[in-house]
Amino acid sequence: DVGFDGRRQRLAAYRGYLARRLHELADLVHRETGKPHADAILEITLTVDHLAWAATHARRVLGARRVRPGLLAANHAAWLEYQPLGVVGVIGPWNYPVFTPMGSIAYALAAGNAVVFKPSELTPGVGAALSDTLAEIVDGRPVLQVVTGFGETGAALCRAPGIGKIAFTGSTATGKRVMAACAETLTPVIVECGGKDPMIVDVDADLDAAADAAVWGGMSNAGQTCAGVERVYVLDAVAEEFTAKVVAKARGVRAGSGGAYGPMTMPAQTEVVRRHVEDALARGGHAVVGGAESVHPPFVEPIVIVDVPEDSSAVTEETFGPLLVVNRVPDIDEAVRRANATAYGLGASVFSRARGEEIAGRLRCGMVAVNGVISFAGIPGLPFGGVGDSGFGRIHGEDGLREFARPQAVASQRFPLPVPVTSFSRGAHTMKALLGLVRVRHAR
Ligand code: NDP
Repeated sequence: DVGFDGRRQRLAAYRGYLARRLHELADLVHRETGKPHADAILEITLTVDHLAWAATHARRVLGARRVRPGLLAANHAAWLEYQPLGVVGVIGPWNYPVFTPMGSIAYALAAGNAVVFKPSELTPGVGAALSDTLAEIVDGRPVLQVVTGFGETGAALCRAPGIGKIAFTGSTATGKRVMAACAETLTPVIVECGGKDPMIVDVDADLDAAADAAVWGGMSNAGQTCAGVERVYVLDAVAEEFTAKVVAKARGVRAGSGGAYGPMTMPAQTEVVRRHVEDALARGGHAVVGGAESVHPPFVEPIVIVDVPEDSSAVTEETFGPLLVVNRVPDIDEAVRRANATAYGLGASVFSRARGEEIAGRLRCGMVAVNGVISFAGIPGLPFGGVGDSGFGRIHGEDGLREFARPQAVASQRFPLPVPVTSFSRGAHTMKALLGLVRVRHAR
C-alpha cells in the first residue's frame, strides 16, 4: 500500500498524462461515440478536474479521525478510519465513456482500491486507453484493469469472487439485473440509471438564458446525457415568449458530422426517440421544431414538442435523444408536482431570479442546477447520483470517496472502569450507579 501520499502523487501523474494527451484521447472518444471533438475535450477536462479533487481530498475525508467517546465510555479512546474495499468493479456506459466511469474509477483509486473496469461494448478502446495510461505511471501494476465484452462480461464481473463493490451506470433494467447478480454474493452496489430530468422556468426567469440552457441541456451530445434536460415546465405567463426563444435556438442547431452534435451512438436508440415522438404527437402534442421526420438514423435532428400529455412515453420514459418536451403550467406548485411525478429522480434545473433555491429544495432528485444546467456535474465536491428509478449511491465529492471505503470503528480502552458494567463480576451496586448516571443525564 503506497498510502494517501503515494496515491496522490501517482494520480497527479495520471492527471498530467491525460491532460497532455487530451487531443489524442478526445479523438478516440470521437471515433468510438461519434460526438464532436470539442465535446470530448470538455468531457476529459472535467474528468481531470475530478481526478485532482479525489486525489487531493482523500486523506482529509478518509484518514483516521478521533471521535469523542462520550460519558459512558470515557475510559476509551475512539477513532474512525476508512479502509479500502479491495477490488472495485466498474461497469460503464458509452455516452460519456471517460467522464462517467472515471467518476467511480478516480474516487475508488484515491480511496486505495484496485479497479476492474468493464467499458460499454461500444467504447472498449477508450476503456483500454484509460487503463494503459495509468499502467505507464504505476510500472504496470494492475491497479486499473479492463475487461472488454458484452453484457455477460459485466454479469461475470458482478459474480466474480473478491469484488468489494460494483459501480454501475446504464439503464434501470440492467441496473436491476446487476443488483440481482450482486445479491448472490451480497456484493454492495452503486447504480446510476439515468433520468427524465425536468427544467422549471419561473415567471421572473432570464428567458434567454433558460432557453439556451434548455436547448443545450436537451440536445448536446444528441441528448444522450443521463442528466440532460428532457422535460420543461414553463409558467403560463412566460410560456409563449420562452417557447419562441427555444424554437429559434433549436432551429439553429444541426446534427451531423461537423454539426453541433453527432449521431446516436447506439443505433437502437433512434427507434426509442421515434416511438416517443410518435406517441407524443398521436396524443395531441404539437411539434414546434422537427417531428418524426427528424429521425433519420444515425442522426436525429432537434425536436421540440409542446403540450404533451403527462402520461405520454415522451414524458414518463427516458428518451436519451434530442427531444425536448415543453409543457405549460399555471403555477410553481403544479410545476413541482409534475417535475416530481416520474419514477426517475436524477437531476433537475430551475430558472428563477427570486426563488430558484426555494424551488430546488422541493424537488425529489439527487442534484439541482439553479439558473444553469448540469452545472453540479462539474463541481467535484458535490455528490452525483439519484433516487427512485435513477438508482442510489453517490459518485463524486466526499460521499463519492466514502462509497469506495468501509468505515472501521475502533474503541481502545485506556484504563479499566472501577465499576465494570460489561463483566459478570459486576454487582447490583454497579447497575445502581449506572442507573443514577442515566437519570442525571437523560431523564430530567
Ligand atoms: P445498459 O444498461 O444495457 O448497459 C450499460 C453497461 O452495462 C454496459 O457496459 C453493458 O455492457 C453492461 N451490461 C449489460 N448487461 C449487463 C448485465 N446483465 N450485467 C452487467 N452488466 C451489463 O445500457 P445500454 O448501453 O444498452 O443503453 C440502453 C439505455 O440505457 C439507453 O437507451 C439509456 O436510456 C440508458 N443509459 C443510461 C446511461 C446513464 O448515463 N445512466 C448511460 C447509457 C445508457 P454492453 O455495452 O456490452 O451491453
